[in-house]
Amino acid sequence: MRRLVDAAMDRIVAHVDSLPEQPAGHTVGGVRLARSLAEPLPERGTPFPKLLDLLFDRAVPRSINTAGPGYLAYVPGGGLLHAAVADLIADSVNRYVGLFGAAPGLAQLEINVLDWFRDMVGFPKEAGGILTSGGSLSALTALITARRERLPENFLSGVIYLSDQVHHSLEKAALLAGFPAANVRRLPTDERFRLRAGTLDSAVEADRTRGLTPFLVVASAGTTNTGAVDPLDEIADAAQRHGLWMHVDGAYGGFFVLTDEGRKALRGIERADSVVLDPHKSLFLPYGTGALLVRDAEALRRTHSLAADYMPESREGVDFCEISPELTRPFRGLRAWLPLKMHGIGPFRDALEEKLALARWAADELRTIPGIEILAEPQLSTLAFRLNPGGLAVEELNRLNRGLMKRINDRKRVLLTGTLLRGEFVIRICVLSFRTHRDRMEMCLEDIRGAVEEG
Ligand SMILES: *Cc1c(COP(=O)(O)O)cnc(C)c1O
Repeated sequence: MRRLVDAAMDRIVAHVDSLPEQPAGHTVGGVRLARSLAEPLPERGTPFPKLLDLLFDRAVPRSINTAGPGYLAYVPGGGLLHAAVADLIADSVNRYVGLFGAAPGLAQLEINVLDWFRDMVGFPKEAGGILTSGGSLSALTALITARRERLPENFLSGVIYLSDQVHHSLEKAALLAGFPAANVRRLPTDERFRLRAGTLDSAVEADRTRGLTPFLVVASAGTTNTGAVDPLDEIADAAQRHGLWMHVDGAYGGFFVLTDEGRKALRGIERADSVVLDPHKSLFLPYGTGALLVRDAEALRRTHSLAADYMPESREGVDFCEISPELTRPFRGLRAWLPLKMHGIGPFRDALEEKLALARWAADELRTIPGIEILAEPQLSTLAFRLNPGGLAVEELNRLNRGLMKRINDRKRVLLTGTLLRGEFVIRICVLSFRTHRDRMEMCLEDIRGAVEEG
């Protein structure tokens, strides 16, 4: 056992230590490599060192460096090694935490994590939640819970309201939850990409007139596109007026409630009926850690609890298998519990504050580059910009900026991705990795300046 783990750890340490020097992305030849790795089920084993070579020398390097400090694309997180160690422990003891009674001490640690998240959001004590594999599965569970709580068995008249900036996982969740595409409304947003209550009011009234049943609204606590935060208090008022279930998607921005500034921006999140948080984003954990919190914990139980003859009869504590879609599951709680217990929340809060400041700094620097315009100022730690020399048609402008982004990324110190805002291509910067600091942001700005001058 020790030789196995030591050999892996030697490679892990070398890899993690070299993350800042590794290219921000190196996928050339990756597809050819992938094809060369396809093989039939092996009859005989291969020595472990050879397999480590395959992983660390061949497969890992040909990839986007999602764990490195230059990853400013999509939504970063980084992946704390402490969580990987927690997984090693959890997978090694392989205890079952789906039933409280099967491992009460361990189940309690996961319950603690969920209670901490509940308190961060400002939910009451009757709230409950589950850890999931990520935001998408959290959203699906939330929508099915809301559907079962608020609509009859034939729910086909139920209507869901999303903004035109909502993450596509919500639309996917609506379809997977059984709603016809025609029951999902994509409402227009304001000039800062936020859903306003007035827009929601009109849409709900129009649907009521048609005989439909408005039942759920999704508000974003930080969109993926621009980091826009919907006015949550205002949406909560509207949801109350119309009797809608209010779901808040905090997969990107939710944990910013830990900071003073974020808490202000996200005011009203505590009035939601359900909230999604993604610890694998703004809590820096490795991929595969999502969370769903529901204001009324009993709603999760009513939705998911079924009897079975082979299950124990008397229960105490929280049985995760009774309040979630999963039965057999990994002990996910430990990968969140261990880093939080080892560090306390302080360093997480500090890191999130640093990301807010870095995004503001980047916006200020971008403003000094001639021709650059910022289409989305940072509301949290994300912003969107483009080069606009003036006088170009949208198609040309989009081409110009796609080229600019490629030249920035070709320098391989940072990786940026783009998006379309009302049909116009913009380049995003999302600062969220715990490994991204001022030095890397300076490289980012240097490379943007260089790429603008080169173009
Ligand atoms: C990433 C993201 C999601 C989806 O979460 P996954 O963990 O990737 O499934 C949903 N909403 C927002 C705002 C996101 O950034």
